[in-house]
Order: sequence, then C-alpha cells, then structure tokens
Amino acid sequence: MNFAGRAHRRTDVAIIGAGILGASVAYLIASFSKLKVTLVESEMHAGAHSSSRNTGVIHRPFYLNPSKKAVFSRAANESFPLWKEMSAVHGLPWNRVGTLEAALDGEGLKSIENYGRFALANGMDKNEFQILDKSEMAAVEPSVACEGAFFSMNDTCVSFGEYTRKLLDLSSRDSMDIMFGQTVIEIDPQDGILIIRDHAGKTGLLEARCVLNVSGGEALRLARISGVAREFSVLHFRGDYWKVGQGLSKPPSHNIYSVPKHSEYPFLDPHYVIRHDGSAEVGPTASVVSGPYKYPMGDGDLRKGPVDLFSRPYMPKVRLFCNREFLSLIREEWRSSVSRSQMARRVQKFLPGMDRRYLTTRGLSGIRHSLVDRSGFVPEAITVTEGRSFHVLNYNSPGATGAPAYAAYVIGKLGFSGLIDSKKMNLTGEKEKLWGRSVDNLFSVMGF
Ligand SMILES: Cc1cc2nc3c(=O)[nH]c(=O)nc-3n(C[C@H](O)[C@H](O)[C@H](O)COP(=O)(O)OP(=O)(O)OC[C@H]3O[C@@H](n4cnc5c(N)ncnc54)[C@H](O)[C@@H]3O)c2cc1C
Repeated sequence: MNFAGRAHRRTDVAIIGAGILGASVAYLIASFSKLKVTLVESEMHAGAHSSSRNTGVIHRPFYLNPSKKAVFSRAANESFPLWKEMSAVHGLPWNRVGTLEAALDGEGLKSIENYGRFALANGMDKNEFQILDKSEMAAVEPSVACEGAFFSMNDTCVSFGEYTRKLLDLSSRDSMDIMFGQTVIEIDPQDGILIIRDHAGKTGLLEARCVLNVSGGEALRLARISGVAREFSVLHFRGDYWKVGQGLSKPPSHNIYSVPKHSEYPFLDPHYVIRHDGSAEVGPTASVVSGPYKYPMGDGDLRKGPVDLFSRPYMPKVRLFCNREFLSLIREEWRSSVSRSQMARRVQKFLPGMDRRYLTTRGLSGIRHSLVDRSGFVPEAITVTEGRSFHVLNYNSPGATGAPAYAAYVIGKLGFSGLIDSKKMNLTGEKEKLWGRSVDNLFSVMGF
C-alpha cells in the first residue's frame, strides 16, 4: 500500500463498527484498561443498522441448543442481568412482557419439551419458565390458537439502539476516540493499518496494535480483504415488520412466537411482538436482498453500501439456490414482505383473529447477514485472526441480547492471542461502574 501524504493516527485498539457489539467492546476496554481505543463508524451516529433495526427482545436462551450454540447461549444468559442493571441505573426502557413460544402441531410440542432441557442447560432458573398445555395456554392468551406453549417469563422488550448509544456516551468519558462518517476501505493486517475514507472522499490512515472488525453487514468483506474467511459467502435477509393498530379482540399481552419449522434456515415464522413502548408489531420476514443496506425505499437516510449477492465464492450460494425447499421458503418470505394480506395470513396460523386491516403501517426493517459455507448456514458467530486483525463474523440474533458478555469473550480472545496486552487490563477496579457486577467474574464465565 502507498501511504505517502495521508494523515496518520495511532491507537492501541481500532474497532470497526459502532453497533451494539463494537460499543460493548469499546466500553469494556475503555473502562477497564489503559489501552487507547479508536472506534471507526461509517454512519454519522451509532447503532444505525441491525443494532437499532431489530425485534428488540432480550431473549432468554431457552431455544438455543447448547451443543450447537454454546457461546451464544452463555452470552445471552450472562448478559441478561447486565442489561437489567444498565436499564435501572440509566432509566432506559425495560418492558418485561415474557414470550410464549407456541407449538402449532406435534413436532412443535416435541420442540418445546427440548426447550425445557436447553433452558436448564443454558443456566436459566427453573422458575423462569413453564411448559403450558393447550388449556393452560388458552387461559393465559385466549386469542392464541396452539397445542401448547413454552412460557419464558423474563423475555424483555428494550431499545438496543439506546443501549448502544448509552454505552458509547459512557465510554467517551473514559477517553475514547469515535470517528463517525469514516469508512474503512482497506486493511493491512500484518502492520495493523487501516485506510479510512470520509464522506467527502478524503482518505487517512489509522495504525493500530489490534484491529477489531465488528462491522456487521460488511464484516465478511473486510475479513476477506484481510486475506481470511475465503471459504464463506454471505446472504442478506431483510426483515420487514408491520405495526398492529386497533381492532384485534383480546390482543396478546406477551410476545407470541411460533416454534420455527426450519431451524437450520434463518426463516422464523413472523412473531407478534410488544415493543419497549408497549406498541405491537408483527414480523420480521426474511427476504433475500442483494446487499447489507438494502432497506425498502425511503426507509432511513443511510448509505447504499456494497452489493454482494453475486460475490465469490459462488458454490455455497449455488447449493442453496438449487434446493427446492429453500426456494419455496424464499418465495413465501418475499410474498409476506410485499403483501399485507399475506403477512396477516401467516400470523393467523397462531392468532386467528388477525386481519390485514389491523396492520396499519410498516415498521423499521432490519437486515440479517448470514454466513454460508459448503455445509449450508453457519450456526453461530465465528471469530478469525490474521496478523493484527481479529474478525467477528455471522453475529446474528440473539447477538444484541448477548453483546456485553460476547464482548468479554472477544476481549479474552484478543488477550490470549497477544493482540492486546492483558497486563494493561484492570478487571478488578471500578467494579460498580455500570453493570454492578465483577467484570473479572464475567470474563471467567465467558471462558477466560
Ligand atoms: C430483523 C432483525 C431482528 C433481530 N432481532 C433481535 C432480537 O430481538 N434480539 C436480539 O438479541 N438480536 C436480534 N437481532 C440481531 C441483532 O440485532 C444483531 O446481532 C446485532 O445488532 C449485531 O450488532 P453488530 O454490532 O454486530 O452489527 P451492526 O449493528 O450492524 O453494527 C455494525 C456497524 O459497522 C458499521 N460499518 C460497517 N462497515 C463499516 C466500514 N467499512 N467502516 C466503518 N464502519 C462500518 C455499520 O455502519 C454499523 O453501524 C435481530 C437482527 C435483525 C436484522
């Protein structure tokens, strides 16, 4: 790379992406170490993408198979009390409505039995959940039609976007640099050099001892620029929502999910969700889109970003697109993204009183970025190191739920691989600062 004539800054840890994961890592490093952190974000504010454009549910990890999603289930379980404390201390919304995961048939009933086992294995308390039969469910939610349900009482509706911004407010006070409106366009992983371009097209250099790529929809592209993760492709799935207005008789007072039929794919049947402000929505769909920021027209004033539906490697995507079941699911998802009637019909499977007239306006869409390889969809987030760079890929739901504990996991890995100097971390001081919990204990629970 030719660096001549470019402005040059230096830092200990450069974080690419001010989403909820970047903000959580930045907060932990800035608060508990003497390392200098510089956060680089393309948009002009934090949490502009998935971290504000999601269902907003802090999920308890009852539905995560601990043998397939070990780190995510631990991160979700450990993060719950941290978010609760943060909401209480900073007056952020905390709407504990609980989730009912409805079994629509015999297969669904088997799944909710498994959920009971997963919940305990993932560290949930037995008093946090119940398995309800059909008549018990009718008493709890008379408008829901199902054969039985898993009731997770502590699922809570929040604003993950507000959490992201609050973490950065608190981190800035601990002398962290945030560079908004700056896009990382090149990475030299061996020397830890980033080339950054601002909105006016001016480029500069940032040199870091450690480069952390937590850039959500662009994470795979940046990893590949760094020479790693070449075996993966990414597919972007847009989740659209509809707001639910007046009209529904006995509207549910809990989140209602139905047990997903195809847990190997990122297609969850749409849910009925209560937002942190008490309003209700149905969604999300999962429509394939060509790039990480392909929101519907007029939805947000954000940059357009790359188109990578047709990027290499082709094979993982070709395999999926040759699969008839996958294609038929894609078609169904598209139909419910464009048609209010189709969305209402899908919700009627568990909420028979739903009518297209009650779906008033569109909610805010969000986009998942799912990694695929030759075996299909990659089940959990993965991390890859190259030189001074560290990449977090496939960080999907319930990524927002688990962000604080997953951030501790990432920092632990950075320490182990020598990318940050663990001696500069002070995990025993300032314990009460935000999360009211000993941070060294959080690190040890996350495996370090
Ligand atoms: C529809 C939907 C529903 C979901 N529902 C839930 C839920 O209910 N509960 C839950 O726990 N999780 C949910 N999730 C998942 C959760 O939202 C994500 O796992 C989480 O927000 C990911 O955070 P992140 O910080 O990794 O990524 P992001 O929030 O996408 O942040 C990445 C940031 O990197 C920036 N960036 C990208 N490229 C560059 C670059 N080259 N240079 C500089 N900056 C760059 C982007 O602008 C962005 O701000 C949902 C996700 C979606 C899409």
